[in-house]
Amino acid sequence: MEKLTYRDTRNYAPIDVTKGMDLLTREIVMADAEAPEGYEPIPKCKLCTNFTGTDTFMGTCEASMNEPKFIAYPDMVATTCEMYQAM
Ligand code: SF4
Repeated sequence: MEKLTYRDTRNYAPIDVTKGMDLLTREIVMADAEAPEGYEPIPKCKLCTNFTGTDTFMGTCEASMNEPKFIAYPDMVATTCEMYQAM
């Protein structure tokens, strides 16, 4: 798996679109900065084996039963998706 950014972990609480708090160190960090090793990934479509990306901002959910399959956004949080499959 690629390195995670803070915004892709459960150990991060956003303050605004660019920064937030590292919940383990209580430091203010940039959302797109690389998270330390061992931080827990938050379920997102881009971290799901059912996701195929067509570009940076859009992709497809291969688990969709619809035809055509529905659009999935890489950064969409998937904590309630029952079909989520972690990479
Ligand atoms: S199965 Fe859920 S988490 Fe995975 S790509 Fe489809 S909508 Fe996203």
